[in-house]
Amino acid sequence: MIKLFNTRTREIEELAPMNGNHINMFVCGQTVYDDMHLGHAKTYVNFDVIVRWLRFSGYDVTYLQNITDVDDKIIARAKESGIEPRELAEKFEARFMEDMEALGVRKNVTRFIRSHDYIPAIKDQIQLLADRGFAYFLDGDVYFDVDKFPDYTALSGMKLGDLKNHRIEPKEGKRNPYDFALWKAAKAGEPKWDIEIIFGGQKIMLSGRPGWHIEDTAMTYAEFGPQYDLHGGASELIFPHHSNEIAQAEAASGLKPFVKYWMHSGVLFINNQKMSKSLKNFIRVRDVLEKYSYEDIRFLISSTHYRKSVNYEASLIDEAKAKLGYIYSVLNMLYNLEEGITESNDAINSSIEKFRAGFTDAMDNDFNTPLAISSLMIFIGEIKDYCKRYGIIDKDLKSRAVRELLWLTNTIAILESEKYKKGIDGTARELMQERENSRKNRDFIKADELRKRINELGIEIEDSAHGTIYYFRF
Ligand SMILES: [Zn+2]
Repeated sequence: MIKLFNTRTREIEELAPMNGNHINMFVCGQTVYDDMHLGHAKTYVNFDVIVRWLRFSGYDVTYLQNITDVDDKIIARAKESGIEPRELAEKFEARFMEDMEALGVRKNVTRFIRSHDYIPAIKDQIQLLADRGFAYFLDGDVYFDVDKFPDYTALSGMKLGDLKNHRIEPKEGKRNPYDFALWKAAKAGEPKWDIEIIFGGQKIMLSGRPGWHIEDTAMTYAEFGPQYDLHGGASELIFPHHSNEIAQAEAASGLKPFVKYWMHSGVLFINNQKMSKSLKNFIRVRDVLEKYSYEDIRFLISSTHYRKSVNYEASLIDEAKAKLGYIYSVLNMLYNLEEGITESNDAINSSIEKFRAGFTDAMDNDFNTPLAISSLMIFIGEIKDYCKRYGIIDKDLKSRAVRELLWLTNTIAILESEKYKKGIDGTARELMQERENSRKNRDFIKADELRKRINELGIEIEDSAHGTIYYFRF
């Protein structure tokens, strides 16, 4: 049974999808006007782990992510660069996909859907809102009439007066300053579409582009229908973006709730500030990937609960890398451990059971990755102790321990490399044999020298009850 925190109800709830075993899930994706930074990576990795765990638990998940390729930021950036907005969006979408692939996230998204493919769906939704009296025409634009939707602040829990700090779209003649654009008239040289909307029996031709918020609800209406299971995104989107999504969708369909479970991930800060273009403090994912593996990044992100914020510093990723290296080394120690008949099966069996229960409980309880990682670290410690103590393991139990470990850690996308299967070659084997002989002859000075030579090969050795065990440093 999976429990999760629902922003809509502000409670931990048991997951009960609307249609049996199937989950329709949508996560707000990238606005493709620049490269992905670590802050974006946190969101996508957090939801990737969530979708992996849902599927691992037997749910059939349709996971859609949108690509915002029609947007003010894209138009502004294209103008600066002297290229067409479409060209800029395509360039950064291609780079975004490369980064998503490199992070191991892309393959778990069922489909990426693009705003510019959904203009007819957007038009239909604006028409529905106009028919039901929630949309009004103003000087080439169309606005959502916030006063007509009393639940506007339900998701954020704020009062309209508290919203002053949030960016509102200024426009002379708006009925309420918080009214937001469903459609914006195009200025000269901007991309535009022509649609026809009927307001109170009067046909009006609109030439422009959709507002940001309606892109998502028109897309999900077209793909999932008026209501669906799970919507995710970064917590900074709760207001106004997700509040506006709810207003649009529920006003258009008359059905509540638009989304059953709203899930929000914490923000990644740097020096306690949000990563942003204007502050020039963002770190691009592709730059990090030059020095660290995607597993290092993912291990770092999963070391904090998805709902919490992270204040990023370079030492954090170094720590993650070191910890992951240690895990690989212990796995390598187990992999290379001598196989044979032993009396010590119970010890490893109970470690496996404890790990499985601990990891699963943590993930079932609001996808608590740091707690799952704690049980992983305990298991790794116990494997290490086992190897050092006994020096031999039952063949089937060895493969079972490795299998369980990889089976569960795959849900947080670590230990996906087969580098743990590294064995020693003839030279190292000879040195180890020589050291063994020196020890038998009580020539400890020579044994120590030989140990140093073995260490120089990147190999660590330990003496167990059953002879020398060894592993590589990763
Ligand atoms: Zn969105």
